[in-house]
Amino acid sequence: MKPRILIIEDEEKFARFVEMELTYEGYEVSKAHHGRMGLEMAESGDYDLVLLDVMLPGLSGMEVLRRLRRTSSVPVIMLTARDSVMDKVSGLDSGADDYITKPFAIEELLARIRNVLRKAGLRSDTRVLKAQDVTLDPGSRQVAVGGVPVELTKREFDLLQYLLENKGIVLSRENILEKVWGYDFEGETNAVDVYIRFLRSKIDEAFDLKLISTVRGVGYVIRDEK
Ligand code: CA
Repeated sequence: MKPRILIIEDEEKFARFVEMELTYEGYEVSKAHHGRMGLEMAESGDYDLVLLDVMLPGLSGMEVLRRLRRTSSVPVIMLTARDSVMDKVSGLDSGADDYITKPFAIEELLARIRNVLRKAGLRSDTRVLKAQDVTLDPGSRQVAVGGVPVELTKREFDLLQYLLENKGIVLSRENILEKVWGYDFEGETNAVDVYIRFLRSKIDEAFDLKLISTVRGVGYVIRDEK
């Protein structure tokens, strides 16, 4: 089945352009030009992803997102006209999955859509992942070591999930960044090291395990044997 995308954007010409491009890429696209109508459509559960403009008449994009999140976890990519850190921060805080600043290259939007849909697909995959005494349940988003629950932040969870999905495979920092963070953080591959440290302190050190191994000059791997 084609993934269904809802565009909530008051600039009709721009919305039509995006609709054309997305349709060409094989998505099924619907449009709403007002915040309220967009919210109603998004809440219907008929869509796999919502592209939500921040600057909307009536109900702002941020308000649509806040209300939508009361009832729905449908993935949302915010379209913001200003390259403002505040917009990004408040958008991501209110539960957006990603944002993109206008004007953007359509290829960039397509890449972000693929990435967000991929992550959403992982979320709905409820296979429990295991290594050593560690279990991760993508459905309930719970991690436990020997049955003892471990509190992880969203990023720590996503990172651990990606490592577990690739158990036995050494992953480079660049690969991890692209898959877990979603796009290029040029020159910021040490973000991976920072989050690996967080995970190690919450899992390896707290439970005296050697779950995450460093492969010098390459990256990280989770193996089953201790
Ligand atoms: Ca607008």
